[in-house]
Amino acid sequence: MHVIVVGAGILGLSVSHHLLERGVKVTAIDRIGPAALASSTTFACINYFNYWHEPYFTLRRNSIDYTRELAAQLGVSQWLHLQGTLRWGETPDSWDKLNRSVNALIERGVAVEFFSPADVRRHLEPDLNVDGIARDIVRIPNEGWMDGAPFVGGLLAAAQARSGFSWRCTRVTGLETRASSVTVRTDHGPIDGDVVVLAAGVDTGSLAAILGTQLTVRSDPGTLFVSHYLPSRLTHTCYAGHLHFRPDGAGRIMAGHHGGEFPPGCTPGMEAQLIAEQLSRRLPALRNMPPHAVLIGARPVPEDGLPVLGWLHRQPRAYVLTCHSGMTLGCYLGRLASQEILGDPVKQLAPYRPERFAATTVAAEASL
Ligand SMILES: Cc1cc2nc3c(=O)[nH]c(=O)nc-3n(C[C@H](O)[C@H](O)[C@H](O)COP(=O)(O)OP(=O)(O)OC[C@H]3O[C@@H](n4cnc5c(N)ncnc54)[C@H](O)[C@@H]3O)c2cc1C
Repeated sequence: MHVIVVGAGILGLSVSHHLLERGVKVTAIDRIGPAALASSTTFACINYFNYWHEPYFTLRRNSIDYTRELAAQLGVSQWLHLQGTLRWGETPDSWDKLNRSVNALIERGVAVEFFSPADVRRHLEPDLNVDGIARDIVRIPNEGWMDGAPFVGGLLAAAQARSGFSWRCTRVTGLETRASSVTVRTDHGPIDGDVVVLAAGVDTGSLAAILGTQLTVRSDPGTLFVSHYLPSRLTHTCYAGHLHFRPDGAGRIMAGHHGGEFPPGCTPGMEAQLIAEQLSRRLPALRNMPPHAVLIGARPVPEDGLPVLGWLHRQPRAYVLTCHSGMTLGCYLGRLASQEILGDPVKQLAPYRPERFAATTVAAEASL
């Protein structure tokens, strides 16, 4: 079998690696390069904290365990930092939300630890200013973060070490499927294969549309502030209300913001400034330090926020693979997808089928 994988982010390279491991010939294609988009411009927290609804919670929990296992197997554990997350509220509302998630996780048997702010400072994070935090800080020991680009580089290196792998840097412009084969049209000519996998991040929807499937994958922009080098001993990923920050592995601090609104008309530069101001309250060594970089990434977000995995509507040779928490889920979803592509359906993936959007596809077909 020859599988053509469109997209060389974490999802595309994970499914490529797992297919190669099972003896399948794989051609991976990316119009820019490996880990060129979301998989390198990402906060990349590995977590299940706010996702306690079943079965999604179990999928995330399994994903974290598998990512650890795969990283060890491929010798890339140095790019996976599961030293834990620290969380606290900055407003009464964010404490309430935090408490709900903590209770739900405890009910599911997840290890949760509580530290007084003074003990966090004394035993865990001496550089963190925890003044004014009136309640216990929550620590989830099994969470952390990933160094996206080098981790994905490790997946690519593992694929390249196998016979049967080839790599093309070119743009996919067209797709044709037949009963027993597929043709992928690119800027550098057509490539024939048996199956095509669409793992093109924010472009997955427009590729699925070529094959007549309506699949909305929204591009959700996010601004990341990256500090200059800072002699900081920070090891945890920290969630302080709407602000989150972590070490970036290169002696800097990376920070982002989620859920709280920035003032209308805020440019990414102004957002980075606001993130820096909030950050310097908790890491005073950063006060008045201009950013080393402001990164703007785009999360691929399927219409209902959940992953999309499976064969496309009426397309038994086109498999789709996309999600908005790809750094947490990518390794595991790539493995499960490889199993399905080889004819072994995975029950656990039933809630994430592209058919759940079939009503819109059928309506679109009817209106043609
Ligand atoms: C600011 C930000 C913060 C985030 N925080 C987290 C987090 O804390 N935890 C978490 O788990 N996830 C997080 N994410 C999400 C995570 O980074 C993504 O879900 C993940 O990187 C998606 O991987 P992917 O392989 O699907 O897409 P990508 O990495 O975007 O890869 C898709 C690839 O497809 C290629 N492509 C597209 N169209 C074509 C075409 N026509 N022809 C050829 N190639 C094509 C692109 O060039 C690209 O390289 C965050 C993302 C952002 C932007």
